Amino acid sequence: MPKIEGSCLCGQVTYSSSADEPAMMVVCHCPDCQRQSGSAYSTNVLVPTASIAFEGDNRRTYVMNGASGQPVTRNFCGNCGSPLSTEMPAFGDLAAVKAGTLQDSSWVKPSIQIWCNSAQPWGPVSDDMDEAPANPG
Ligand SMILES: [Zn+2]
Ligand SMILES: [Zn+2]
Repeated sequence: MPKIEGSCLCGQVTYSSSADEPAMMVVCHCPDCQRQSGSAYSTNVLVPTASIAFEGDNRRTYVMNGASGQPVTRNFCGNCGSPLSTEMPAFGDLAAVKAGTLQDSSWVKPSIQIWCNSAQPWGPVSDDMDEAPANPG
């Protein structure tokens, strides 16, 4: 398994975790993840919050209370806006690293999906959709 490390879109904020492997890999359908990701769900690699080191001055945080009533801290890049991780003290002091920001995310294999009560019907990609290798020609 590659090291758990990654960056935002513009590259100004990078992170790496000292954890050898994730505690859990989770697809989250909660309304907050939908809004923050701009997509139907977010795919997360959970590691201890304390195992993550950030670099770059442009990291910003957004704090709001989660369903537990405890604060949830979302880290993102203040320049390009990429969501990077969510710190969840109410959830075993784990942080959810946004899988799409990993340098190599090809190994990610979520084993559970949560907040299925708010899952969107357009979330799963249908096999019926047309496919283009990159931008449509
Ligand atoms: Zn950035
Ligand atoms: Zn969520």
